[in-house]
Amino acid sequence: MSQPNYSIDVIKAFNDNYIWVLKNQQHIAIVDPGDASVCLDYIARHNVILTDILITHHHPDHIGGLTKLIDHNEALGLTTNVYAPAKNNIAGTTTALSGNEIITLDKLNVSFEVIDVPGHTLGHIAYFNHDVLFCGDTLFSGGCGRLFEGSPEQMSDSLAKLTKLSNSTKVYCSHEYTLANLHFALMVEPENVDLLNYFNQVVELREQDQMTIPSTIGLEKKINPFLRCHLPHIHAIASEYVNNPVNNEIEAFAAIRRWKDNA
Ligand SMILES: [Zn+2]
Repeated sequence: MSQPNYSIDVIKAFNDNYIWVLKNQQHIAIVDPGDASVCLDYIARHNVILTDILITHHHPDHIGGLTKLIDHNEALGLTTNVYAPAKNNIAGTTTALSGNEIITLDKLNVSFEVIDVPGHTLGHIAYFNHDVLFCGDTLFSGGCGRLFEGSPEQMSDSLAKLTKLSNSTKVYCSHEYTLANLHFALMVEPENVDLLNYFNQVVELREQDQMTIPSTIGLEKKINPFLRCHLPHIHAIASEYVNNPVNNEIEAFAAIRRWKDNA
């Protein structure tokens, strides 16, 4: 895949959603436009043309703005390429994806590999190019998405696919959940020095109302308990939580996911 020459910008939406914008001169692509109004403001303010929309999954805070943005373009005589999970029949989709495809955004001169990451939803996909990952609600900094549709096994497999990407891969997830995630991560791994250091940095960033995203795959492997379920000390604490011996990565993942849901 070619070296990308776009820049990445953010539109903040709702309480804690990040809508990512890929920008190449006057053309933009938007990832998960949950809210049309903030996207339309951005388009007007920057005087840009929306050519592509990338959807990771079907939840309303990721697709809520889709129809209005397509209509906005249509009124200008423009078509919108909409990439979305095949499993969900999302209105407006022009390219339905289920993983292992390569998509090319012509106006942005960039290609993405599509990765199938079921768990949070069954159709959830992620988009990867070179050193950039848009992973929706699958992997967060210090955490992972809730299992609304998939099984612990599916989510654990999906996260394993993401951890195979290079350590320098920047993780553009869809929510600013980092601080709350790290409070939980410290319950699982109170003695993880990398985690303690990162927690202190994040506290400082959030006190100044700064974003903690993007993270990187390398950092997440050091601090995110959901990516560390292969480690014996995580099996031990997961066993304590479920009050039963936990013997493998999937069981440990299922236990700490349940623990986080109830924390
Ligand atoms: Zn979601």
